[in-house]
Amino acid sequence: MTQSTKPLTILLASPRGFCAGVDRAIQIVERAIERYGRPVYVRHEIVHNRYVVENLEAKGAIFVDELDEVPDTRPVVFSAHGVPKAVPAEAGRRNMLYVDATCPLVSKVHREAERHHASGRTVVLIGHGGHPEVIGTMGQLPAGAVLLVEDVAQAEALTVADPHNLAYATQTTLSVDDTVEIVAALRRRFPAIQGPKMEDICYATTNRQAAVKAIAPRCDALVVVGAPNSSNSMRLVEVAANYGCRKSRLVQRAADLDWNWLDDARRLGITAGASAPETLVDELIAACRTRYHVTVEEVRTTEESVVFKLPRTLVA
Ligand code: SF4
Repeated sequence: MTQSTKPLTILLASPRGFCAGVDRAIQIVERAIERYGRPVYVRHEIVHNRYVVENLEAKGAIFVDELDEVPDTRPVVFSAHGVPKAVPAEAGRRNMLYVDATCPLVSKVHREAERHHASGRTVVLIGHGGHPEVIGTMGQLPAGAVLLVEDVAQAEALTVADPHNLAYATQTTLSVDDTVEIVAALRRRFPAIQGPKMEDICYATTNRQAAVKAIAPRCDALVVVGAPNSSNSMRLVEVAANYGCRKSRLVQRAADLDWNWLDDARRLGITAGASAPETLVDELIAACRTRYHVTVEEVRTTEESVVFKLPRTLVA
């Protein structure tokens, strides 16, 4: 194909892509394979990205949905999203070797929920029903102890036994703006509700949304590299639309992009969800170069330096 002279300016959001929790989870699987040999089982997608999962499969990981698919004799890793308490309890009962790759920022929410429950408060969890992180957080407490609220309408309709003994926590990968509205509705209805000093939405989610907000008004179109089951990636698509970008969409790989959709765009925003590797961003930019005369402008809104330690069992 001959290179088009049609100009395209790519506004590259930064920070984008891998967060410290995802980086740690991938390293945990790689080190577990090095230490214990193949195969190492992983309960659920370690992070929500097909490319990452396939790379780890090639190195010797086997992904399963449930613990009963794992032989007692092989190590198993729990995904970055966190797991209900029943899962490590079952692994312990079967004397399995397990490594927990739950992101420390998700574990922090688990401990908050437990603390509130121990103080006699009902916990309202703001999040998306069915997401593994929400299943994991709800599974820290006995069935029925956590009430899930997904949006403002549900916050307005919520009924609780004791409005004076109430606390909230949130999924870490929500829309910052939507969550502010949901928390405001809860506070209006239940003034005594307790919550975290800083919201539970993690630094990586917050920073990636802020970077998209900075470029969205300047973009004719914006593409998020990520997976449809990645909450933080889907939120980036919404944020772009809410902050003035006429059209935004998610792609898993460059090959998925519909070039007709992009056709009239002169300024294209690109970002990546916290579970999408930078190589997939590079691949998308390279694909743009085959069709346009591309200029790349990186727009950095903040620096990130967060690094999480690996579990001791894998560094000793
Ligand atoms: S998106 Fe946030 S909570 Fe999720 S793994 Fe990354 S740092 Fe942890």
